[in-house]
Amino acid sequence: QNQTEPRYNITVIGAPGVGKSALSLQFLYQEFVEDYEPTKVDSYQTYVRHERSDVNVQITDTAGQEDYASVRDTFLRNGEGFLCVFSLTDTDSFSHVQELYSQVKLSKGSAPPHLPFLLVGNKCDVEASRQISLSAAVQLARNLGVPYIETSAKTNFNVTEAFLGLTKMVVNSREPL
Ligand code: GDP
Ligand code: MG
Repeated sequence: QNQTEPRYNITVIGAPGVGKSALSLQFLYQEFVEDYEPTKVDSYQTYVRHERSDVNVQITDTAGQEDYASVRDTFLRNGEGFLCVFSLTDTDSFSHVQELYSQVKLSKGSAPPHLPFLLVGNKCDVEASRQISLSAAVQLARNLGVPYIETSAKTNFNVTEAFLGLTKMVVNSREPL
């Protein structure tokens, strides 16, 4: 990394078991890791194509200890863009989105479009056990004023699109209007 190169931070948040680690690892290494340690927090450096250049992105994959307010506050403070993941097969994880959004908004002191925040409905490969309809998810995203995308970390569907989309939002939010 050269000295003057900006680095952008993306933080992956969401309820336990929604696929935060699987999405991060699929994006970084193009493989589906099925049983990543659920309590493990990790940060990764990568380069993401944005317009005609590669931008340096740090991806932070969060885990269970966000339940401790102090740890969670650190993630929220350091995060610049938020990939907010729920599972399309888990209504509890969907119910959790509103609270996560409120915490991010409070911590950053800004709201979309100045707050890069992408809502992600993951596990769209298991259509048979879908609990959250597309329209319910779109409605929530509209209420929050954020974009929505459906992904599968398992089949690598829309994973790159999600990370690239959020990177674009983060880069644009730093550029003066
Ligand atoms: P995290 O706690 O949010 O980091 O969730 P993990 O990435 O550890 O995934 C939790 C479980 O969901 C694991 O058993 C994964 O194999 C599974 N999983 C993650 N993403 C997908 C997906 O897109 N489709 C399916 N079918 N399973 C997934
Ligand atoms: Mg994890």
